[in-house]
Amino acid sequence: MSFDRSMARCSFCGRHTSEVRRMVAGPGAAYICDECLQLCTDILHDSTPFSTMALELASRPPVVVAAPNPRAEQSETATTREPREPLRTITLEIEQKQQGMTLILHRLQYFQDFFELHYLWIRHPFSTGFAFVPRIIFFLRDNTGTQWTGDHGGMILARPDLANDPNNAVYQGSARFRPLPGNGARTLILRAADPLGQFETPPPQPWQFEITLS
Ligand SMILES: [Zn+2]
Repeated sequence: MSFDRSMARCSFCGRHTSEVRRMVAGPGAAYICDECLQLCTDILHDSTPFSTMALELASRPPVVVAAPNPRAEQSETATTREPREPLRTITLEIEQKQQGMTLILHRLQYFQDFFELHYLWIRHPFSTGFAFVPRIIFFLRDNTGTQWTGDHGGMILARPDLANDPNNAVYQGSARFRPLPGNGARTLILRAADPLGQFETPPPQPWQFEITLS
C-alpha cells in the first residue's frame, strides 16, 4: 500500500505539512509535527500522574488520514456538534471486583446516534510520572449479536474527592459507542479489561457484566 505524501497530516493534530515547521513521517500514513512532538516530550517530563496535557492530547478527535471528501468533512462537523442532553438514561449502578480493582458501571446514556457508558474505576493509585493516560477497553455484545469494541473517545479523570481509602484511587471515565443498540436489543454483555493488565502475571480476568436494557 502506498501513501500520497502530499496529503500528509499530523496524526496528532491533523495539520498539513504546509501548516507546520517540521513533520516526522512514521510508518504508513502516520506523521507527527514538531509541535505535537514537543507536547509529547513535555508530557514525558510532567511529574503529575494525570497531566492535563496528556488528557488534552488523548481526548482529541481522531485524525482522518484519508483524502478529504467534502461530504465526509460535513458529517464530521455535524457529529462534533452533538447534543449534550441524553435522549435516554439507563441507570446501572453495578459493581464488580477483579484482582483488587473495582469497576462500577453508573449509567448508559443514549444520544442521537451513539451511546455512552459512564463508570468509576477504583484501583491502586497510578505512580507519579505515569506518562500516558490509562484506559479501560470494552467489548459489548447485545442479544441480537451486535458488537461494539474499544473505548472510542473515552475520557478518564482522577477523582481524589471520591476516594476514602489511601490505598485506592478513584478514576472516572466514559466510553462512547456507535451505533445505538437496535430495537431488538434487550440485554447487553459487557466485558472490560485494563489493557496494562496484560503486563501482569497472571493477567487479570476481564470484568463481565450482564445489563438489561429495557
Ligand atoms: Zn501536530
